Amino acid sequence: MMTRKCVWDGIIGQNPARDFLRTAVQSRTVSHGYLFVGPAGTGKKTAARAFACATICDDDACGTCRACSRIKRDSHPDVQVLAPQGAASYLLDGQIRPLIRDIHLKPLEARHKFYILDQADLMGDSTANAFLKTLEEPPPGVTIILLAASYESVPPTIASRCLVVRFRQVSPSSAQALLEQRTGASPQEATAALAATGGVISRAAEFLQSSSRREARARILSILKDLPAYDEFDVLRACRELLVLVNAPLEETKAAHAQEIKNAEEIFGKSGGKTLQVRHKRELTAREREGVTEILSITESWLRDCLVLSLGLDELVLNTDVLDAMQEVAAVITPQAANRGLGAVSEARRRISYNVNVQLAVEAMLFDVREVLVCPRQ
Ligand SMILES: [Zn+2]
Repeated sequence: MMTRKCVWDGIIGQNPARDFLRTAVQSRTVSHGYLFVGPAGTGKKTAARAFACATICDDDACGTCRACSRIKRDSHPDVQVLAPQGAASYLLDGQIRPLIRDIHLKPLEARHKFYILDQADLMGDSTANAFLKTLEEPPPGVTIILLAASYESVPPTIASRCLVVRFRQVSPSSAQALLEQRTGASPQEATAALAATGGVISRAAEFLQSSSRREARARILSILKDLPAYDEFDVLRACRELLVLVNAPLEETKAAHAQEIKNAEEIFGKSGGKTLQVRHKRELTAREREGVTEILSITESWLRDCLVLSLGLDELVLNTDVLDAMQEVAAVITPQAANRGLGAVSEARRRISYNVNVQLAVEAMLFDVREVLVCPRQ
């Protein structure tokens, strides 16, 4: 029997959380404040978006209508996703005060507004205090969802004002099994997808459905294989081509953005378009980083595979589809060299988190990894 796809399907391995949220939507008892707690990678943000979709969608949480697809891309005007700015914390004046003002404005399109605050544990006490009253009593039709690593990591005054939804850690083997079951992927494909997405099941499921993301994976793996033979020019060219591939899915998003701005300007005039432009720019930067993060995760898992192979732990290999190339490296690489390579990936991740130009960060990583592969015995 064919069952209809819906946004709830995207919440994988978290049935109690999913059922709790679905019941709230179906019984029309969506509350004003939620605290989603669980370790990174358990799909809290995906669940928050699904919850917003299910509440706002006119077609029974379809996941594909205009509203749903914009919510999934973080570009629906009534569903805002925030993350800490500044020195890795929420800014009182730059973020929380504007948010408190915004909450009191009417929704632009939907009947219900959502505010999703990622990493809400990175909210200082004074910022949390300023936010308390709003969180306790937002205007009707507003839901605030805070995402945090644990209940204890959030100021108690904040946590006690929310309904708590728990997300549990899924073991790598059940993550793989769930992914195979949900997507019909082979064990090999599921493991590779999880390696590329840092073990986040919901993202791994999206990865398997995206031909361009799988193509980007194939490209970085072939670069890693050929890297020792590259000269400087080859590295720079490979990096440029790789980033074109990573950013290819953004073209679709850009086209959708242009259409949204046109619509907003027709309804709200130039100012409506301006607000959207700021949000779109943020969305594109975040998307670009997501794509590059995937490249870094794949590089990391490849180097780790070479290391475990060199130690004779073949059963721990994740990228089994490129075993031959890795075995050649594993035959000669020392643990010290492999660790230097892994260090280069961490450094790239750190640079990107500090807003260093993405291309420069990936280039530097490839140069460092090339050095390791050229002298793997040192
Ligand atoms: Zn929908």
